[in-house]
Amino acid sequence: MKALVLGAGGREHALVYALKKSSFVDEVIAAPGNGGISKMVEVFPLNPVNSKEVLELVLTQKVDIVVIGPEAPLVAGVADVLRKEGIKVYGPGRAGAMLEGSKAFAKRFMNDCHIPTAPFDVCSSFDKALEALKKRTPPFVIKADGLAAGKGAFIIDDATEARNILDQLLVKGVLGEAGRTVVIEDFLAGYEITAMAITDGRTYRMLPLSQDHKRAYDGDKGPNTGGMGAYSPLPQVDDTLKAKIEDEVVKPTVEGLKRKEIDFRGTIYAGLMIHEGSPYVLEYNVRFGDPEAQVVIPICDVDWGRIFVSCAGGNLEESAQINAARSGVGVVMASGGYPDKYETGFPIEGLDALEGRDDVIVFHSGTRMEGGKFLTNGGRVLTVVGLADDLKEARDKAYRAISSITFKDAHYRRDIAWQAFV
Ligand code: AMP
Repeated sequence: MKALVLGAGGREHALVYALKKSSFVDEVIAAPGNGGISKMVEVFPLNPVNSKEVLELVLTQKVDIVVIGPEAPLVAGVADVLRKEGIKVYGPGRAGAMLEGSKAFAKRFMNDCHIPTAPFDVCSSFDKALEALKKRTPPFVIKADGLAAGKGAFIIDDATEARNILDQLLVKGVLGEAGRTVVIEDFLAGYEITAMAITDGRTYRMLPLSQDHKRAYDGDKGPNTGGMGAYSPLPQVDDTLKAKIEDEVVKPTVEGLKRKEIDFRGTIYAGLMIHEGSPYVLEYNVRFGDPEAQVVIPICDVDWGRIFVSCAGGNLEESAQINAARSGVGVVMASGGYPDKYETGFPIEGLDALEGRDDVIVFHSGTRMEGGKFLTNGGRVLTVVGLADDLKEARDKAYRAISSITFKDAHYRRDIAWQAFV
């Protein structure tokens, strides 16, 4: 069995790591990959949203299964093109990817399936949006309908500023088509966690719960980022809440997809707000989270190759169980200035000493290899993951390891997993 991992981030490095360990998969390649991935497997340059390029690589390399990491190729329908040619794909087709590709679609889906989510209006005109605002009290929540690389959600206290955002999105079109329709919804107070499940379109398995850290700086301050760290499992979530998440969110999502005849084979990610003890879905993703994948994948005691192949084939074994065998804490090392302007091309030191350990893994996001050395090549550069029997030890391992890695202007949060220890 030959597997291709599509994508270029830390999540994809974790997927390559998982497939390399699998006894079910003989060979792994990646496209386009990054510096760290290229050290593990052969990489091929291509544009992952261009289904023609992907199909060509799959056919020339005789790939049996494609594992799609990021959302853009899924929303673009790359999985559909591959499946039509008889290739196994882990990742939903365009219809299923709409759960992430359109917030309006996702909200209507949740209403149809009685999945708890904030009350909302979908608006495509400025006047209708103003009416939806008037029904609400601050803080106002406004979201662009389409993919906006994490820049499409606005939480605003001031009504004038909220009108201004609506003007920017609906009238001036600053986010293009992605913002020509908006979702306006009630604000929910609480804390956020991530629930992921894998499905073959018939049945599903929950993955250990995890938590991301979106803000750039300690204490959840500063601008939003792609994610500055994650940990799993969550000791603060009890069995009652876990059962609610499965019964009220994950199960009805899988059932709803089946009812709507959407053949979803891949990862369902529900971004949840735990509000007054109950889960509400803020958003769906249709793939692993990044950086959640970097901790959830290595802590589970399963053969991921077998899981991906069976999900892609629509025959996830009833006996397949996915449990957290360890705890994991992943700390993202970013370029100075990220998520705003930053420079790249700086040498990364200290990686060699961490190689070969099974309790510390360094997943690369924005790196490239030049003359046998790793250089920074993006905003998020590395995710340094500590693994141990308990979360505190995992956190200590991650921080000890990260303090031995250096590159110019590096920055990382010092408080990843703080919510588990309050
Ligand atoms: P989303 O892209 O929908 O996940 O929204 C981005 C972020 O905005 C979330 O991670 C939350 O922190 C926040 N958010 C979104 N919707 C709400 C809501 N209804 N109430 C409170 N916070 C929200």
